This record gives sequence, structure tokens and C-alpha cells, in this order.
Amino acid sequence: MESVKQIIRDVPDFPKEGIIFKDITPLLSDSVAFQKTINSLRDRYADKTVDAVVGVEARGFIFASALAYALGTGVVMIRKPGKLPYKTFQETYSLEYGTDTVEVHQDAFRSGQNIILIDDVLATGGTMAATLDLIQKNFENVKIMEATFLIELDFLKGREKFNGIPIHSMIHY
Ligand code: AMP
Repeated sequence: MESVKQIIRDVPDFPKEGIIFKDITPLLSDSVAFQKTINSLRDRYADKTVDAVVGVEARGFIFASALAYALGTGVVMIRKPGKLPYKTFQETYSLEYGTDTVEVHQDAFRSGQNIILIDDVLATGGTMAATLDLIQKNFENVKIMEATFLIELDFLKGREKFNGIPIHSMIHY
């Protein structure tokens, strides 16, 4: 993963001052690095029973769909409010300033399914913690096997927000 790590670009002060944005676009456009990333995730789950890969808007969708294709599963989208056309469940969570909401379709999962959640970056963990709540509250018999990230910003201690759910991050800063 070191070669993949090298390709991720730091963009200082984006989207606001003080944030070092981890820009994954050079990784996505590099066929070798992208394939290495997806193959590594595929190998991690290949011998497990996975029924769906759940991507968090928006960059999570890219990894979720490629991984789902590699594993032969479906994809479920966790979206920002007002984007999903059918009936939804919602979970609102706090940000530094204000709140945000994640949504999922009410028929996104079937009872007994085993799922993996994926996003590009684990920062404060707020988005993924809300996603976990959203699924756990509304789909009692769905098993969340793991939350997976391409990148984890260790110093933000986001993983402390996920009680009991295994977390896998490919690259740490
Ligand atoms: P979180 O603070 O863990 O809820 O992060 C929310 C979302 O913001 C994640 O889906 C990431 O895609 C994105 N994000 C947060 N911090 C960064 C960062 N430093 N670089 C790139 N993306 C980030």
C-alpha cells in the first residue's frame, strides 16, 4: 500500500483554512494504483459471505461499486438528504457548525444480510457513526461486518465513535 499512499495528494487549506485535504483523484486515475486498492479489499473479503457493499456519498460510491463488482454483490448508497427518490430512513448528526443528515432507502436491505460499509476517508468519524446508527436502528437483522476506509486520519480519533464495529483502514496518517 506504500505506493498507493505516495500517490495521494495533500491539498492544504481545502475546503477551508487549516484542513489538509487528502485528494484521491490521482489514485483513481492511476490504473495500477486503483486496481491494487480494489484487489486488496477484494482479497480481504473474498472468503467471507458478503451480501452488499454500502458506499457513503460521494467518493465512497466509487470504491463501493468497484468492490461490489469484484465480490459479486450489490451496492447500497448512503446519501445526503433529498437525493434518494423512494421512501427513506434518516439520521441527523452534529458537525462542527450545525448538523447534517444521511439517508437510505427503506428497502435497501433484507433481513439476514451481511454488509460492509465503505468510505474514502475516516476523519472525525461523524459521517460513518451516523451511517452505522441509521442502519442499526432501522434494519435490526442486518449484520455490519466491518467499516472500511481507504484512509484514516489517526490523530482525529474517529474510530472511537464506533462502538463494537470492526474498522479496517488501508492507509494511516
Ligand atoms: P468525518 O469527519 O469522518 O465525518 O468525514 C466526513 C467526510 O469528509 C468523509 O466522507 C471524507 O470523505 C471527508 N473528509 C473529511 N476530512 C477529509 C480530509 N482531510 N481529506 C479528504 N476528505 C475528508
